[in-house]
Amino acid sequence: MRTLIISDIHANITALNAVLDAAGPFDRVWCLGDVVGYGPDPNECIERLKDLPGLRCVKGNHDAAIIGEIEMAAFNPEAQTSLTWLSRVLRPKNLEWLTSLEDRIVDGKITMVHGSPRNPVWEYIMDIPTARANMDAFDTEVCLIGHTHIPSVFQFEDDEDHSISLEHLFPDDVFYTNRKMIINPGSVGQPRDHDPRAAFIIYDDEKELWTFHRIDYDIESVQRRIRSSGLPHRHASRLALGW
Ligand code: ZN
Repeated sequence: MRTLIISDIHANITALNAVLDAAGPFDRVWCLGDVVGYGPDPNECIERLKDLPGLRCVKGNHDAAIIGEIEMAAFNPEAQTSLTWLSRVLRPKNLEWLTSLEDRIVDGKITMVHGSPRNPVWEYIMDIPTARANMDAFDTEVCLIGHTHIPSVFQFEDDEDHSISLEHLFPDDVFYTNRKMIINPGSVGQPRDHDPRAAFIIYDDEKELWTFHRIDYDIESVQRRIRSSGLPHRHASRLALGW
């Protein structure tokens, strides 16, 4: 089976459409949260996403904020501005769909969370000590995460000191499941690894093969929509920088 793995779409329909076009045929979609927040197209992204085949999607911190599960005060001022904007434009049925999302999904040998297995909505796994602290917080072979917007793989060696390696991923890098791993596909709609292209993974579960991809999309059209919608202009400028 071919699985498309995406995260942190952040209301960027142009990037999402580019990923769906580039992904080729897929049997199911796993989405690691933050469908909304920052970007200009929250309704379009939810409406495209929820009809994709075999969709499993967890809730991100921006998704949790807009349904009232996280206080807006927990976000930086610009994120608060975009959440206030979002609360005005989000259609009721799409708000309802966000409300239905779970914090954690376990599907066979895969766990899915937005942040980390021990703190699914908030914690960032950016370094080896944090990954190590989360090693016993999931029982499956692989834990898929998002939230950092940086494609990465943490591999746990099965030896006494539980050493962990961290790989920052490049397009077309491949990994095989051969030990306990935490895998982050990077972000569709707001990459933060200084590569502005949309990021995704294709997982082939027969070969146990994870392939990282990056794809160009029309960033300028998204920037124009951000600026004309009244969202903070920095949400537009950062897209071109991949930050
Ligand atoms: Zn995010």
